[in-house]
Amino acid sequence: VTGGDDALVLMPTGGGKSLCYQLPALARQRAGNGVTIVVSPLIALMRDQVLALHELGIEAAFLNSTLDPHEFEETRRRMLAGEITLLYAAPERVTNVNFLVDLATLHDAGKLALFAIDEAHCVSQWGHDFRPEYRGLTVLHERFPDVPRIALTATADALTRKEIAANLDLGQAKQFVSSFDRPNISYAIEEKKRARDQLLKFIRESHGGESGIVYCLSRKKVEETAAFLADHGITALPYHAGLSPAVRQRNQDRFLREDGVVMTATIAFGMGIDKPDVRFVAHLDLPKNIEGYYQETGRAGRDGEPAEAWMVYGLQDVVLQRNMLEGSEAGAQHKQVLRGKLDALLALCESTHCRRQQLLAYFDEPSEPCGNCDNCVNPPDTWDAGREARMFLSCIYRCEQNFGAGHIIDVLRGKETDKVHRFNHWNLSTWGIGAEVTEQQWRAVQRGLVARGLIYQDTEHYNVLRLSGGWREFIKSEEPFELRIAVKKAKPARKKEALPEDEAALTPDQELLFEALRSWRKQQADERALAAYMIFDNKTLRGIARMRPNSPEQLAEVKGVGQTKLETYGPAVLELVAAEPVGQGGA
Ligand code: ZN
Repeated sequence: VTGGDDALVLMPTGGGKSLCYQLPALARQRAGNGVTIVVSPLIALMRDQVLALHELGIEAAFLNSTLDPHEFEETRRRMLAGEITLLYAAPERVTNVNFLVDLATLHDAGKLALFAIDEAHCVSQWGHDFRPEYRGLTVLHERFPDVPRIALTATADALTRKEIAANLDLGQAKQFVSSFDRPNISYAIEEKKRARDQLLKFIRESHGGESGIVYCLSRKKVEETAAFLADHGITALPYHAGLSPAVRQRNQDRFLREDGVVMTATIAFGMGIDKPDVRFVAHLDLPKNIEGYYQETGRAGRDGEPAEAWMVYGLQDVVLQRNMLEGSEAGAQHKQVLRGKLDALLALCESTHCRRQQLLAYFDEPSEPCGNCDNCVNPPDTWDAGREARMFLSCIYRCEQNFGAGHIIDVLRGKETDKVHRFNHWNLSTWGIGAEVTEQQWRAVQRGLVARGLIYQDTEHYNVLRLSGGWREFIKSEEPFELRIAVKKAKPARKKEALPEDEAALTPDQELLFEALRSWRKQQADERALAAYMIFDNKTLRGIARMRPNSPEQLAEVKGVGQTKLETYGPAVLELVAAEPVGQGGA
C-alpha cells in the first residue's frame, strides 16, 4: 500500500487492523504524497480516534456534522493545504459532490495519498451492518484511479469477502487474510434458564468490577437488564438507538473512560469501539449469524489479556430468529442465504465439540481443538438421540402437524390427558413409545430438531409443530443426532501457560507503584478529557512499575512509551517513580 498498490485486509479485532492504513498514511505523507482519507461509518467515535492519534504525535482530523462551521472550515483548509496525515469522514460525506471537488483539488496538487475504507463489510447486503452509501464509494476509484485504496474489515465470511471485492471494485487488489483466531478469548454457550440470574452470577463470579458488554435484542430488554444489574450493585448503563444522542454519547464516554462499567446494549453499540480492556461480552439473545457473533465477541480482550465470550441460548431464541427471518420482506433467494447463516450459528450453539474450531472453520480457517472453550475444558456428555429424533418427527406426522410440542411429548410419553382422549391419540402407533425418555430430554430433542431446521414452530397457528427441510430423508437415514445430556457447569479455565515476563505478577512494591501510576493516569485522563488507556495502557504502566526508570532514556525503553508520550508525560512519571518509596510494600 505504501508503494501505491490496492489491498483488501481481513483481520480480527485487536489484530492491528488500523496500523495497516496508518503506517502507509504516515509513510506516504513523509514521501510527499499528502493526505490519506479514512472512510469510516463511525461518526460518534471519530473524535476519540483522532485524539488517540494526536497523543501519538500524528496530524489527524475529522470532518463531520459535530464540528461547528468555523472548525469545519479550518479543518478543510488544512486538508486542502495537505497538512493533515489522516482525515476521517463518513461515506456520505466522501461521496458528496462538494467533497469530491475538494478531493479533485487535492489530487491536482499531488496531495491525495491514499483511500482507506474501514469497516468494509458494510458494503455487503448480507452482513449485519449494511450501509447502502458504501456502494457509492466506487466513485473514488472512477475519479481517482491512480490513488491506491485499502479496504479493511474484522469480519467477513467467503460470501461477504466476494461482495466487498466486487462492490468496491477491488477485484485486482491483493488480499491479506490473517488468522481470525483470538486465543485470549474463551467461549462458552449455556442453556438459557433464568437468563438474568445466570448473567448476574457470571459477572459476580468471574468479572466483578470489570468492564463488559451485555447484548440484548430489544431496547426494552436493554433497559430492564441495565436496571436489574444496577439494582444488584453493578455499574451498568443502557445503550440503544431509542435513547437521545446526548445520553448515548454520555454513556459511551463513561464506558470508554471509567473502569468497570458494564454497557447493556443492542447491536447499535460497539462497532469501532476501541476499548482495550473489555473483559467480557455476554449475549442474552441470539445474534443474527456467526459474523455478528464474532464481531460482537471480538470487542473483548483487545489488549491480549484473558477475556470471555459468554452466551445463553434457548429454544425461544431459535423460534424468534426463524420467525423474524421468515416474516421479513426479503426475497426468496435472500432468505435462503439468511437461513444458511442462521443454521450455522445454531449448529455452533448446539455443538458438543470445540467452539473455536467451529468458529474458525466458518471463516475457512482449519484449526485444532483449542483447550480454551467450554466444550474443550469441560467436554459435555452426549447421547445419540437419533432414535428419539425420528420418533419425534413421526409423532408430529401422525398428529397431522396440527399440535404443539407439549401434546407431541404427551403422546410420545403415553400420558393420558383430555386432549389425548379427545383426539383418540392413544390409538396412534407413536403412543407411549418414548415413555422412558424424560420431558426435559424430549425438549432437548425438539430444540435440536428446530436448530437443524427439520421442524419449526408455526407461530401464526397456535405454535403447532410442522415438519420441514429434509425431515423425510433424515427419518430414512441412519444419521446420528448428537445431543448434550445436560449442561454441566461450564466454567472455562483460563489458559494456564507460563506467563511471559511482561505479564507475570508484580511484587508488592511494584504493585504499589502501579496503583500510584494508575491514579495519576486517571487524573490526567480527567483533565485532558481522554480515555485512560490513550495515555498509557495497563501493560505499559506495569512495565514502568517493574523497571522504576530514573531517566528519560530508561523510560523510553518501556514498551508503549514513544517519543511524543515521553515528552508529554515523561517528567511527571519520573517524578512519581522517584517519589514512591521502595521496600515498604511487604510491610
Ligand atoms: Zn475449544
